[in-house]
Amino acid sequence: MNLEKKVKADLHKLKLNKKSKILVALSGGKDSSVTAYLFKKLGYSVEGFHIYLGMGNYSKKCLEAVEKLCENLKIKLHVYDIKKEMGNSMCYLRTAIQEKNKPLGNSLKNCAICGVIKKSIMNKEARKLNADFIATGHNLDDEAQTFLLNVLKASPQLSANSGMISQNKKDKKFITRIKPLFYIPENEVRKFSKKNKLPVHYEPCPCAIDSYRIQIRKFLNQLNDDEKLNIIKNLERIQEKLKLSQQKNISYCENCGEPCRNKICKMCELMR
Ligand code: AMP
Ligand code: ZN
Repeated sequence: MNLEKKVKADLHKLKLNKKSKILVALSGGKDSSVTAYLFKKLGYSVEGFHIYLGMGNYSKKCLEAVEKLCENLKIKLHVYDIKKEMGNSMCYLRTAIQEKNKPLGNSLKNCAICGVIKKSIMNKEARKLNADFIATGHNLDDEAQTFLLNVLKASPQLSANSGMISQNKKDKKFITRIKPLFYIPENEVRKFSKKNKLPVHYEPCPCAIDSYRIQIRKFLNQLNDDEKLNIIKNLERIQEKLKLSQQKNISYCENCGEPCRNKICKMCELMR
């Protein structure tokens, strides 16, 4: 089955109302661009959301790609400028957090910090924009890497809620996330994006130097796509058990009021 048919069938299973407002988190890269393209083509109500990270030429190229895509698809684009809203670029914020944590013996990875900040912004802004869902471009390779990383860190329960649709308990402050490319291998996404000539910035983020994830990615790239899919199918087989060890309800951060699992949310923990 081709990519479009597969995604259509997978989305069909989620039984989304085509009138629900879906905010696609657009990075300028191939995965999120393909996600927005397919939602639009399949008749969903979609808008774009880009976080402008203020990382020099790289960020400018990403914004240009996102603007062009939204123009081509005729979808509304919302841009969140991190420098304007939070006072500094992602590089600056991340380095400050790393410097502060070093003496405590915590070596925090670039992508981990950036990921927490981006997720927090997405949830808050999607709520402000009255979105019903946030969609991201995570593909099969991303998901297999994350699960493997969690297993190797002896924390498989961190994958308990991952899926094409987030399986967290429903909460009015938490916008449900969907990943339409959850079962689609990265190679197929790349081919689809090139075939459809989507305006995409293919250069990887200059700060993505998380060596452990890169090693896992290299390892997984020795497997074929069916074997990668098997890793995810195996995760799905143990997810019910993983959820039992993760029974904490969603509560609200004592500092900022955002939904989280502990007393303080990850974002506040980093920014403290
Ligand atoms: P990454 O963590 O960079 O692999 O990105 C995973 C997903 O997060 C992408 O497929 C996008 O949907 C979303 N994303 C990443 N960076 C941005 C950004 N700057 N603005 C909006 N969404 C983003
Ligand atoms: Zn907080």
